[in-house]
Amino acid sequence: MLYRNYGGTGRCVSALGLGCMRLPRDVNEEKGEAPVNREKAFELIKYAADNGITYFDTALGYHGGASEAVLGEALDGGRREKAQIATKQPFSEMKTRDAIRQNLESALKKLRTSYVDVYLIHNIQKSAWENIKKRRIIEEFEQFRSEGLIRSIGFSYHGQYPAFKEILDFYDWDMCQIQQNFMDTEREATEEAIIQAGKKGCALVIMEPLRGGSLAFPPDPIKAVYDAHTPRRTPVEWAFRHLLNYPQTSCILSGMTTLDQLKRNIEIFSQADAVPGCMSEEDKKMLAQVKAKYDSIVTVPCTGCGYCMPCHQGVGIPEVFSLYNEGNMFGAFDQPRRGYMWTTRFHHEASRCVACGACEKKCPQSIEIIKNLQIAHEALKGWLE
Ligand code: SF4
Ligand code: SF4
Repeated sequence: MLYRNYGGTGRCVSALGLGCMRLPRDVNEEKGEAPVNREKAFELIKYAADNGITYFDTALGYHGGASEAVLGEALDGGRREKAQIATKQPFSEMKTRDAIRQNLESALKKLRTSYVDVYLIHNIQKSAWENIKKRRIIEEFEQFRSEGLIRSIGFSYHGQYPAFKEILDFYDWDMCQIQQNFMDTEREATEEAIIQAGKKGCALVIMEPLRGGSLAFPPDPIKAVYDAHTPRRTPVEWAFRHLLNYPQTSCILSGMTTLDQLKRNIEIFSQADAVPGCMSEEDKKMLAQVKAKYDSIVTVPCTGCGYCMPCHQGVGIPEVFSLYNEGNMFGAFDQPRRGYMWTTRFHHEASRCVACGACEKKCPQSIEIIKNLQIAHEALKGWLE
């Protein structure tokens, strides 16, 4: 296993971290349940800890609150001491000062530990940032650090670069966690976020390196690009090496759900040459071709211009089409479905459309919005947390 510096904390972590958002589950669609399969989850976590992985990422909300408890139980009895545990609290759960403390205390109890190594404000939303500052949430975290309940302070972020930069520059964060992969260098927080985090000496943890696993199984035209390239590597290897190539990367989280995936990934992260500078110019060109091919597979030609908005029924039309296109592009709807579940916390589901037609009149791409919303809703509904 390769290890990397964790920003300016003086600590090192395994370059591969175990994300505990996608622990093995028993999915029962009829009952609408998907509880963690504890036996398989224990096996996975213990194997990771016994084979060089030292970084474990969880959150209050993962698996409906069960993730922290399963991780704590699996690491208990000798493995916790070698592990670094990162967990998170979302602003939506920080109703009062007491609630913030209770949430941390509950996390410590579930994790069976007296401290967590990294405590994050989970998924900072641009719309919540002003309130996070006003309510001095970071000072609460500093208090926890001074009491020895947490060692480092960080944040996770899904969103555009400008808000990321503002959050990053506001405070001397120990770490930040963002979505990046070779498809997102100009999307989400963008590659620039990696560069800026590095400049500040902030530990950088990358999530969604495989875009919810979708980059692991490319469709045939994209597979052909990989196959024509020398040296031959799997799509998963290329996706990881793209991120390992950045010297700023501290740790790459992967939500592995099977022991096979975990073993294969440990092998990739143990290759002696998987270090900064591991991507040649030819390798980078090949990945740029792969990216262009993925981008060309778009089902609904929505540009995200927003001229159709607002919908009086509250449907987030461009967001729905973006997720639907993503599912088709990668031939995998797992991550878009989860995104749809989140989107519907801010917008109503596409099924709320009453076919008034107002949006279609305004769309410069002449998209059949009503029909496509129905199709997209069928493809995106039904995520079980
Ligand atoms: S047709 Fe549907 S999506 Fe479009 S504005 Fe009317 S209700 Fe909203
Ligand atoms: S107006 Fe058309 S292209 Fe623009 S966001 Fe709406 S659906 Fe997409």
